[in-house]
Amino acid sequence: MESDLRRTWANIDLDALGFNYDKLRERVGNAKFLGVVKADAYGHGSVQVARLLQDKGADYLAVSSADEAVELRLNGIKMPILILGHTPREQVKTLIDYDITQGVTCRAKAVEYSEEAMRAGGILKIHIKVDTGMSRLGYLCDGEMFETGVEGICEACNLPGLESEGIFTHFALSDEEGDEAEAYTRHQFELFTRVCKACEERLGRPFALKHCANTGAVAKYPETWLDMVRPGLLLYGYGEYAKKLGLKPVMSLKTTVSTIKTYPEGTAISYGGIYKTAKRTRVGVVPIGYADGLFRALSNKCCFATADGPAPQIGKICMDMCMVDLTDKKNVDVGSEIEIFGPTNPIETMADIAGTIPYELTCAVSKRVPRFYIKDNKVVERELLLRG
Ligand SMILES: *Cc1c(COP(=O)(O)O)cnc(C)c1O
Repeated sequence: MESDLRRTWANIDLDALGFNYDKLRERVGNAKFLGVVKADAYGHGSVQVARLLQDKGADYLAVSSADEAVELRLNGIKMPILILGHTPREQVKTLIDYDITQGVTCRAKAVEYSEEAMRAGGILKIHIKVDTGMSRLGYLCDGEMFETGVEGICEACNLPGLESEGIFTHFALSDEEGDEAEAYTRHQFELFTRVCKACEERLGRPFALKHCANTGAVAKYPETWLDMVRPGLLLYGYGEYAKKLGLKPVMSLKTTVSTIKTYPEGTAISYGGIYKTAKRTRVGVVPIGYADGLFRALSNKCCFATADGPAPQIGKICMDMCMVDLTDKKNVDVGSEIEIFGPTNPIETMADIAGTIPYELTCAVSKRVPRFYIKDNKVVERELLLRG
């Protein structure tokens, strides 16, 4: 569905995305590039992001589920796609039909995938996931589990119907600062390389793609880049590492002023009356609320960017709208554009105030917020994710 409505919308700057990709590509040299586009590309639109990465010659994409992968295939994405999460056995045939690669995380799933691939009469491409310290998915290989882990991985690689193209692990602390985080990450990496070596020796062949570098590792641990890097957040240009590397934020969340009223001193604003005007106050209503992805936890704590500088958001954020203090904002009127976050009002500040990370804020931008895709300062596509 297309939308021309300029109520509340998210600009997705495809030039910034392309710029970030080029910068990262240059940074990682010969390593291949996997772009993480799970969760609708962190809210940016996985089809549009994947299209750009495909045009730019990226090597791989990653998503979290079969449904996300199929969505890309149905929209003309031909490049290799890796599923990081589990796929139910009923969908294995779909993976083979659409040539989608599956991450294999444990013996039970390996056996299931193998059985289903055999039943479908096809070959399922897999990447083995090693748990080196994230304690989430993957074959446990640390300490006394090393032998069992390596054995399990080799068993999976030798199962009929499976083609083991790659092996990967995920860092838990690569984006944390300090000696402890660094030691933890180095241990994870050292273990991963040891597991890869043992498996390759036992199998008598190398994995074509060994990969582990997420955003933190792309920024800070060049030795972990191996055959392929696997960043998400950096690509979208958020966080301190993006800033250090000179990357640009891709999404700006915008709204417009619906109405403005001036209230006398002592007026309670919004639910619960947590905010009372301290003087005569010119208050704007903006049509963005927690149903659009503006967290209620930000109520009365954040600022939005206006043509006349930052304007404090006041009172509780409602489901569909919230209020903003426009008292000294002479150039801001009904219809004026407001930036919730973006190049002027950094998402990192918003995330800090909400006690979270930028990932959660872009993922939260809901489906009723149309995405406007911008190239060369022109809107090249508008997409509203509501049922058409
Ligand atoms: C989400 C994810 C990534 C990307 O993480 P960023 O911090 O956004 O770079 C990489 N690998 C795996 C397994 C993931 O789940």
